[in-house]
Amino acid sequence: MKDLIVFDMDGVLVDVSESYRSAIQATVLHFTGTQPTNDEVQVWKNKGGFNDDWKLSHRMIQELGEEVAYDDVVNRFQQIFLGENNDGLILRERWLAGEGLFERLARRHHLAVFTGRLGAEAQLTLDRFAKTTFNPVVGADHVANGKPHPEGLHKIRASVPHGKSWYLGDTVDDARASRAAGVPFIGIASPAAPRHAELAQLLRDEGAVAVIDDINSLEGVLAANS
Ligand SMILES: [Mg+2]
Repeated sequence: MKDLIVFDMDGVLVDVSESYRSAIQATVLHFTGTQPTNDEVQVWKNKGGFNDDWKLSHRMIQELGEEVAYDDVVNRFQQIFLGENNDGLILRERWLAGEGLFERLARRHHLAVFTGRLGAEAQLTLDRFAKTTFNPVVGADHVANGKPHPEGLHKIRASVPHGKSWYLGDTVDDARASRAAGVPFIGIASPAAPRHAELAQLLRDEGAVAVIDDINSLEGVLAANS
């Protein structure tokens, strides 16, 4: 029986520093006149509880002293991220896996995705880079409880017969979801990201069996832990 690897999407499969992270910054700028730095966004992410970028944008706007309706924040964010015809910042995403990585992994593993994105937004990006690699793809609108709740991981594990399972993520909320589900967690802390060392330590503190720079080091971790 194959083992199961579940991937978070943003910061794991795709570099979203120019898409979701920029959309947060631009949304906060729009409503407050102040553009937060990438580092400031990461401080909130590292606190946990802000996996949802709409919720985070709304909260950052409040912190800057502006009261804006949540729906207005969501609408503006989506306009910036998706653009008129899915031609917004979403097009600035960069696929992180090297050539052949998933083909090699798929020989001995089921590959699935559990993301805080809406299912359709996850699919838009997967269709560009890896259309049929992951099954199932569980998004925010496929679960009643988002991360750090483990519902999505339970759902995926129940849908695929598997041996061992793993979850790969890049935030504290990913690590907490994994621990709550009883699934070994592999953390990703990109050296290019702000607060890289702090994030790596936080992920270890949350029980990560390993913390790696990016997804292309995954095979080494699996070999060492098999
Ligand atoms: Mg992520």
